[in-house]
Amino acid sequence: MSGDLFAKVRRYESYAFRRDLEAQGELPYFRVMQGPPTAVTMMGGAPRVNLGSSNYLGLSGDARLTAAAHCAHQRYGTSINGSRLMNGTTELHLRAEEAIADWFGEEDALVFGSGYTANLGVIGALVGEGDIAVCDAGDHASILDGARLAPGRLLAFRHNRMDRLETLLRRASTTDAGVLVVVDTVYSMQGDLSDLVTVTGLSRRYGARLLVDEAHAVGVLGPDGQGVTALAGLADGVDLRMGTFSKALGGGGGFVTGPADVIDFLRVQARSFLFTAAAPAGGVAAALAGIEIVRSAEGEERRARLAANTARLREDLTGLGFELAPVPVTAHGVPVQTPILRVPAPDDATAARMWKLLYDEGVYVNVALYPAVPRGQAQLRVSVMATHTDEQLERVVAAFAVLARKLALHPVDMVAG
Ligand code: PMP
Repeated sequence: MSGDLFAKVRRYESYAFRRDLEAQGELPYFRVMQGPPTAVTMMGGAPRVNLGSSNYLGLSGDARLTAAAHCAHQRYGTSINGSRLMNGTTELHLRAEEAIADWFGEEDALVFGSGYTANLGVIGALVGEGDIAVCDAGDHASILDGARLAPGRLLAFRHNRMDRLETLLRRASTTDAGVLVVVDTVYSMQGDLSDLVTVTGLSRRYGARLLVDEAHAVGVLGPDGQGVTALAGLADGVDLRMGTFSKALGGGGGFVTGPADVIDFLRVQARSFLFTAAAPAGGVAAALAGIEIVRSAEGEERRARLAANTARLREDLTGLGFELAPVPVTAHGVPVQTPILRVPAPDDATAARMWKLLYDEGVYVNVALYPAVPRGQAQLRVSVMATHTDEQLERVVAAFAVLARKLALHPVDMVAG
């Protein structure tokens, strides 16, 4: 008799924890959204100030993007029903690729069904047999999964430890393996930045190619919303940039942009591009409308408002005694307000209670527990929008003030026993 494949289902360590939280009404996951992810969102039958989405510029839910998606669905149907290779390429997909290449000043771009499949496909196609993917251990799951699925090897270095990156690159350079370094420019859980000056310098010195994931930076940071690479003036040192339509751009899909020959290779080699249906027309049309806004004066205003909202919330939460991670700075020493604030929690159970208290006060945030973050680093993940009003942010600060009082006065109630 073979072992019971399903035995792991009962062993799964967080299962009991999740069930307990669910029984207590404290499970922060799988909550049902009853409207668009706008600054205030209907959840559980009540409006909550939404600090738990990546709709950083507030473009998802914007009437112009909704209209663009509606038109596209009328024209192309609600599903593409096929791979980009076959029947899945519409004019919208091609226009989006042109728009991205133009925006980033690159030769070409490729639009995938999502950011996740973009990373999977790009890394899987480029890191062939005998090649090496060198990744930051804090990289997004789609990068690490792509590197694991690729025929080549994955070598990971400790988060943001440039000395470790150099050790791996030096070792790899003594072989004839091709090397792809992959880092997030903004780390999605911590909101911190990659040291791009060093990463680009080391990649160049040791002959490695570099792919950066700008998912949380596209539309949000840098000149014209081009992200951290452009902000740091390092576009020449980066071979490929990827991003997603599903965050600041308000659509659905993912992309990679870079040299024409590499993009053309990916067009016929990236398995997650070929063996899945194309991004639905509505998501791509919304992203096209989003890119237009992001690149206009209005986009600039939204970025400024987002930075101001983030700075204000950071200051107010710090004033209440929450120990937020410091404002990230680039290697040139320039502070960058990434719209992700991290509020540490003592442990997983307390993080869930903190979350529930805020939820009951009309504020929705995300909770990151292991394995989304390293063990012992449970946190509330607070993501700000350009469209949060002063009044909404005041409500958020009032809710956190209730939380701070409760944590100070009733630590035993709040902290898991
Ligand atoms: N990269 C990073 C850094 C991300 O945070 C995400 C989404 N959380 C992705 C890639 C995947 O993007 P998508 O949601 O479009 O699949």
